[in-house]
Amino acid sequence: MSFSSLGLSESILNAVSQKGYTEPSPIQKEGIPAVLSGKDVMAAAQTGTGKTAAFTLPILSMFEKGINNQGQQQNTKAKPNHVKALILTPTRELAAQIADNISFYGKHTDIKTQVVFGGVKINPQMMKLRKGVDILVATPGRLMDLYQQNAVKFTQLEILVLDEADRMLDMGFIHDIKKILALLPKKRQNLLFSATFSDDIRALAKRIVNNPVEISVNPKNSTAKAVEQVLIPVDKAKKNALLSHLIQKNNWQQVLVFCRTKHGADRLAKHLNKKNISASAIHGNKSQGARTRALSEFKSNDIQVLAATDIAARGIDISELPQIVNFDLPNVAEDYVHRIGRTGRAGASGHAYSFATIEDKKPISDIQSLIGEVIPREIIKGFEPSEKLQDIPLKALKAKRPKKNKMA
Ligand code: AMP
Repeated sequence: MSFSSLGLSESILNAVSQKGYTEPSPIQKEGIPAVLSGKDVMAAAQTGTGKTAAFTLPILSMFEKGINNQGQQQNTKAKPNHVKALILTPTRELAAQIADNISFYGKHTDIKTQVVFGGVKINPQMMKLRKGVDILVATPGRLMDLYQQNAVKFTQLEILVLDEADRMLDMGFIHDIKKILALLPKKRQNLLFSATFSDDIRALAKRIVNNPVEISVNPKNSTAKAVEQVLIPVDKAKKNALLSHLIQKNNWQQVLVFCRTKHGADRLAKHLNKKNISASAIHGNKSQGARTRALSEFKSNDIQVLAATDIAARGIDISELPQIVNFDLPNVAEDYVHRIGRTGRAGASGHAYSFATIEDKKPISDIQSLIGEVIPREIIKGFEPSEKLQDIPLKALKAKRPKKNKMA
């Protein structure tokens, strides 16, 4: 199947082909016609599935043509300070990436896009909104600040996208989202994307989508098949040395390492730099400039290691990462699925290594229970743990697995 059969406009198809995409991904095959039909959409899709293009391409195409496939008008120009489509997303990095994608896909059109997020000055963002914007990408907190300052108005809003809805709830944006929903016109098209569909997300969805087209491209909470997972039992005190050993022995050039705390990420980056392994930390205490710099140096292979907390790493678009390391296992089992989703994307196989100490029995059992498989173990010579980490059989855990999700 090619992009041209999906109903997108010519100029959008041109940009897609310039980007080098030859075939729509599964979420795009189902999502693009659904969005173009003017219906609400609820999609279970992780980062890496091509979900951004699944909602941005049809929105651009509808705005360009001034009409959707149902014949509904979408052709009014955005008045000063008004927005026609609002894309809400949890992190600054993700917001910037989505806006970059829209600028690329929309480069043969005159559709106006802007991005606003916290952590930087608000005044330049207020200026950018003055003339009106067709598509605004925003993080919820900054959007509310801008609204309170009368910099953004929603009476012309036609389309709302909630991207990474599960993470927005995890990050405590529910109050901002509810406030924003109350400000929007009742008649609008709603698109909701989430990696997982927990009961909380379903409750939120009820308030947002009407009779949606439901799309699921990956079964809930299942890990990507192309990712080879390994659990490495090790003593806590030897984790640093184990990581530098693995990097040097395997000559890893690009590895994303997940740490539980900001402080831990900083400490690890420092340790690696001392060992002549170039590394940076990325987390919420870093300035926006430092985060963007670290990410771009990592992407361009100027640094080998990016030590990240879950929130900072969420949604960053690094395709086909060969390996990730869970230096610390996550407290929340779902984060494991998100983390290993950073590797083995778009058909390329990847490796996810998880360091496990004697204190990690609970997170391991939660993760295995969630993904429904026992993660194979490997002891690294020279780093044998002083106390054996007991096997955690899956059989006993299967009974505890969460209820099967309707969308899976
Ligand atoms: P996303 O899931 O939106 O974060 O996209 C993940 C990556 O896949 C991004 O680097 C996109 O540029 C890329 N991508 C999206 N759609 C396609 C496609 N149809 N063919 C190849 N790559 C794609």
